[in-house]
Amino acid sequence: MNKELKFIVNGMLGHVAKWLRVLGYDTIYSTEMDDRTLIQRAEVDSRIVLTSDRQLYNIATRSGVRSILIEEADIEHILAFLSLRVGIRLKIDLTKTRCPRCGGLLTRIPKKNLKGRVPISILENHSVFFECKCCGKVYWPGSHLRNMSHLLNRAERIKRKMLNNLKERGDNIV
Ligand SMILES: [Zn+2]
Repeated sequence: MNKELKFIVNGMLGHVAKWLRVLGYDTIYSTEMDDRTLIQRAEVDSRIVLTSDRQLYNIATRSGVRSILIEEADIEHILAFLSLRVGIRLKIDLTKTRCPRCGGLLTRIPKKNLKGRVPISILENHSVFFECKCCGKVYWPGSHLRNMSHLLNRAERIKRKMLNNLKERGDNIV
């Protein structure tokens, strides 16, 4: 599994799409694409379909498109489950992180280019900034990033628990 995974996410799973982008995965999120278009797109780009819509999941699977039905409610469990199923990393690597809003690639941007675009207090207190090449949104590592890392640590613990449960039951992982 050397090639980076790519996803297409629909419906109510917008928060999952955001997380996958933060973790560095190329992820399309759509609430409007009809099932057929979505499955075609997944096929063309080799994307994994993530959905909580059982009907879409069934159609995708029947069409030979890799698809995962998301039934968990909270994001820690969903990320743990995806890590077990397809091996997503549960660590933020800022060199890979994509724009949570649009999925675009982020690049480092010097402070001097940000005057007027970011509040002065933020500019004074931070040294590293990223800009989305697609939508232009500016990001900087701060308390939000720490909170996200804590959540990922919880997801990692849940994953280990899930793995132990599977081993005890003698089940296969996938
Ligand atoms: Zn963006």
